[in-house]
Amino acid sequence: MSAPCDLCGADDLRAYVTDMYAHAGAHYDLHRCGRCSLVQVRPAPSEEAIASLYDDDYFDEDYDSCLSADSYFDSFDRLLERYGRLLDRIEARAPVGSLFEIGCAGGYFLKLARDRGWKVRGIEITEIGARHARETLGLDVERRAFPDPSLPEERFDVVYMGHVLEHVRSPAAAIEATTRLVRPGGLLVVEVPTYVDSVYFRTLRLGLPVLRGLGLDASGLLRALKFPAEGETLSPYHLYEFRVRTLRRLLERFGYEWLEAESRVPKPDGLAEARGALNRALSLAFDALDQGALRLGLPGGNVSVIARLRADSEG
Ligand SMILES: [Zn+2]
Repeated sequence: MSAPCDLCGADDLRAYVTDMYAHAGAHYDLHRCGRCSLVQVRPAPSEEAIASLYDDDYFDEDYDSCLSADSYFDSFDRLLERYGRLLDRIEARAPVGSLFEIGCAGGYFLKLARDRGWKVRGIEITEIGARHARETLGLDVERRAFPDPSLPEERFDVVYMGHVLEHVRSPAAAIEATTRLVRPGGLLVVEVPTYVDSVYFRTLRLGLPVLRGLGLDASGLLRALKFPAEGETLSPYHLYEFRVRTLRRLLERFGYEWLEAESRVPKPDGLAEARGALNRALSLAFDALDQGALRLGLPGGNVSVIARLRADSEG
């Protein structure tokens, strides 16, 4: 029993990583499409399994892909720099106008955008995130999944979805649905992790016995890099793994023109604060890889893309 590839429809999935995730007694593999190379979780988790992943602990557990020990709600200062840079890039391409965020978590990006003059709205799947955005920040945010056919008919100059696409059951259905939210000629901004389908992940996997021997399990670094210790598991929060090429193909399929992409190598918080020669060396290595991704176009651990909905596109 296999479902065809969500991106290209081919029925040609091949094992990429076996036993990557486990949740509620079930085990999950990653498969790669032989035609378009999109990586997808198989078997697809049930609706109940997915619903149970997004309870109130979500922002303590998976938020920021385990890179930070802090909860999202304690991370405003750290996020400000990242969000500010993204808004700089958006504002270089579009005058300040209306902005909609899909999956806005506790609303910090929307708050920053509002402070800079944008008229903002958003949706968020978790109750705790939506409530924080509404009650603490006073934002116009509804608790909703995406896609949601009952979303009001309104078009926005900019639609942003950061670290959402890898969580949804069908990225193709999600991107198709964004074409009814972005005004023709408007911008779609998408950020996804690209780490698990990268040379970094594959190389670390090969070197795992050596890394364990160095004692990195104890520092929590390997878990942040998606290699849990013996007896621990990761949950299938990410149903898809992208690389720049698969994301581009997905956006172009639904009428978007690819304008720019910025790859980065985010550093786990633990390393930034860690002491000891090995950790300092690793911290410098992360910085070097990040600069390589940013300035030289080398592969990164995540990518943020700005695309324009073609004016002749039918939504
Ligand atoms: Zn495919």
